[in-house]
Amino acid sequence: MISRQEVIVVGAGIAGLAAAHTLRRSGLNVRILESSWRAGGRMTTDWLHGMPIDRGAQFLSTGYHVLRSLAGEVGCSSLIHETSPIGAVVRAGAPRRLRAGNPSSPLFSGLLGLRELMALGRESFRHRGCLGACSLSDFSAWSTYDDETVKSWSDRLLGHSVTDFMFDPMLRGFYFQSAEETSRALAMVLAAFSFRRSHTLTCDGGIGTLPGMLARNLDVVFDTPVLSVDADGDTVRVTTASGTLLAGRVIVAIPAPLASMLIRTNACHPVECRLLSTGYSSSINIGCIASADFRLPGDLRDVYGVLVPSSESREIVGIGIERNKFTERLPADAQLFNIMLSDACSRRVTGLPDEEVVRLALVAAERFLPGLASTLAASLVCRWPLAEPRSPVGRSADLQAYRRMCREANPAVLLAGDYMSMPYTEGAAESGVWAAEQVLSRRC
Ligand SMILES: Cc1cc2nc3c(=O)[nH]c(=O)nc-3n(C[C@H](O)[C@H](O)[C@H](O)COP(=O)(O)OP(=O)(O)OC[C@H]3O[C@@H](n4cnc5c(N)ncnc54)[C@H](O)[C@@H]3O)c2cc1C
Repeated sequence: MISRQEVIVVGAGIAGLAAAHTLRRSGLNVRILESSWRAGGRMTTDWLHGMPIDRGAQFLSTGYHVLRSLAGEVGCSSLIHETSPIGAVVRAGAPRRLRAGNPSSPLFSGLLGLRELMALGRESFRHRGCLGACSLSDFSAWSTYDDETVKSWSDRLLGHSVTDFMFDPMLRGFYFQSAEETSRALAMVLAAFSFRRSHTLTCDGGIGTLPGMLARNLDVVFDTPVLSVDADGDTVRVTTASGTLLAGRVIVAIPAPLASMLIRTNACHPVECRLLSTGYSSSINIGCIASADFRLPGDLRDVYGVLVPSSESREIVGIGIERNKFTERLPADAQLFNIMLSDACSRRVTGLPDEEVVRLALVAAERFLPGLASTLAASLVCRWPLAEPRSPVGRSADLQAYRRMCREANPAVLLAGDYMSMPYTEGAAESGVWAAEQVLSRRC
C-alpha cells in the first residue's frame, strides 16, 4: 500500500525531531521514520542502578540557543541546569582545574604559561567580532576561518602548548578528533564559547529527556528503517521493509555514511556528494558505578569533567564525573563516571566483549581515578562507530555552498544532521530547523 505525506523525515535524532517539530508547529503534515525503538539517536539516556547514564552526548551549553528554545517550546527548560563551573585538563599527570568564565584560570592551574595566554588574548582580540557574534549553531557561518588546520594555525600563532593542551584535549574529548585533521574554523568556534563565557549545562533525567519530550508530540514511526529515498519530479518515494510512502519533500536526518546509502549519489550536486562523504570518528562510552568505598581524588571533588590530551593517554579522551554534573539529581556521594575512549582505541577494541572493553578502560582510568577498578559495582558499554562528523578544511565552506544551492535549486530531498552544521547536538538541531525552514519557504 502506498500512502502520501506532505513531508517525511528520516531519523528521530535531535536533527530530525527539530525539523519535524518546526514543520508541525506551522501546521504541516509530517511523519518521522525511525529505525530504532526510541527517539534521540546519539542523544539518549539509559538507567543503571537507578542512575542516568548519558550514552552519547553528555553536555549542553548556555551557547546552545536552538536547543534551549526547543526545550522551552516543549516545556522542559526548568529541567536544564548548569553543571559545576569547574572542569579540568590533564597536564604532566595532574588535573589542571579550569573555572568557566575565568580566562586566567589556565595560567593559575599551570595548564598554560603567561606567553601562551597572552598570545590567545591577542588572537581573541583580533577576531573579537566573530568570536562575540557569529553563530554557535550554524557551522557555515565560520567559512572565513575554513582555510587551514587547527595544528598549523595554532602552532604558528599561539604555540605548541596551546595546540597540545588546549585544542588537542578539546577536539579529542568533544569530537574524538585531532588538531592535525580539523579545520581551524572549529577551533574558532571553541574559542567563541569561552570568549562568551559560556557555561556547561545538563538535563535532569539525562540528556535524552529533551528528544523524548519532542517526540511525544510528533508522528514518529519506530522500528522502521528507511531503505531508499528516490526523488522523481515533485514526488519522493521512501521505501521501508513494510512498504513505500510518497511525500512532497523529504528531510534525511541521519549520519552521512548512512544517508549516502539511501540516496542515489550519481544524481547528487557535487557539494552534496562531498558532504555525504563526510567521515566520522568513533568512540565508546563506558558508564561506571563504583561502590561507596571509592574515594574521588581531592582535586576532582567539584570537577564535572576531565579532558585528557593525546600526550597523556592513548586510550582515554575524557571522563565525566556525574555527581558534579547532575548536581540536583544524584546523591552527593554517588560514584558514577562516564569514561570516553579515543577514536583509535575504540576502533581497535570495538569487536571485544563488554567485559574486556571495561577492563581496558579501567586500567587506563586508574591514573586519574585510582581505586575505581577495585570498587566497580556496575558498568554499561555504549559503542559509537559513527560518533561525530569530522570537520576537515573545506566542510564549513561546503555547507555554505550547499545552503546557497538549496535556496536556488529547491531540491525535494534535503539533508540534515550534525554533519550538516556544527558537529554537536546544537548543530544537528540547527540543521533540522534550517531544512524545515527551506520546506516552509517554498510552501506559500
Ligand atoms: C560519545 C558521544 C559524546 C558526545 N558528546 C556530546 C556533548 O557532550 N554535547 C553535544 O552537544 N554533542 C555531543 N555529541 C554529539 C551529538 O550526540 C550528536 O552531534 C547529535 O546527537 C547528532 O544528532 P543527529 O540527529 O544528527 O543524529 P543521530 O543522533 O545519529 O540521529 C539519527 C537517527 O536516525 C536513525 N536512523 C539511522 N539510519 C536510519 C534509517 N535508515 N532509517 C530510519 N532511521 C534511521 C538513528 O536510529 C537515529 O535515531 C556526542 C556524541 C557521542 C557519540
